Amino acid sequence: MERTFVKDWRGVHKAALALILRCIADHGSPPSPAELQVATAAPSAETVQHMLQEMESRGLIFRDPGSGSILAAYPLSAVPTPHRVRLADGRQVQAMCAVDALGVALVFGQDTHISSRCRHCRADIEVSVVGERIGAYSPASAVVWYTPAAVHCAVAAEGQCPYINFFCSREHVKDWKRDLSAPRGQILPLERALDRARAVFNPMKGLGGGPS
Ligand SMILES: [Zn+2]
Repeated sequence: MERTFVKDWRGVHKAALALILRCIADHGSPPSPAELQVATAAPSAETVQHMLQEMESRGLIFRDPGSGSILAAYPLSAVPTPHRVRLADGRQVQAMCAVDALGVALVFGQDTHISSRCRHCRADIEVSVVGERIGAYSPASAVVWYTPAAVHCAVAAEGQCPYINFFCSREHVKDWKRDLSAPRGQILPLERALDRARAVFNPMKGLGGGPS
């Protein structure tokens, strides 16, 4: 890891984000500010706080507004969500939304298996990402509901992004939309949803550090 503190925020962000992602993936919790200071060779605790504020304003992380603790570093959530992702190396992580769940394979450079639920009927949905393509999945009718307005998923009270989710079928997207004033969006086949993940996460490709 680059240990030289540089004025280029993006470079520092990269080192910090890599550490945050690795810590969440390894033990389910983000690094302390002190650990971040060491990893980025930041000169002071204030510099670390400034860096975290900058990362949050760029939408790289999401923090608890009260405590300031890191709740999410895209695509991972440090708090429970319905989108569980098992990495090929055995680590288990949770993603903020369906597209983030698909993006985990890109950020960690390995195959994944996603276990989620239909947002409407709570039926189990399983999706494998193999060689950066959609592998086996069930049910065969599974799709993703995608709302472009949700640039960054907010952490909803129940820990679920309300905008981008898996559904067991197109019919259940329609049933769900009928019940709620759902924002405008589109139904994506899984491979198209993975394309959205590529657009978001290709700049972070391999940042999670690959198999541990
Ligand atoms: Zn369903």
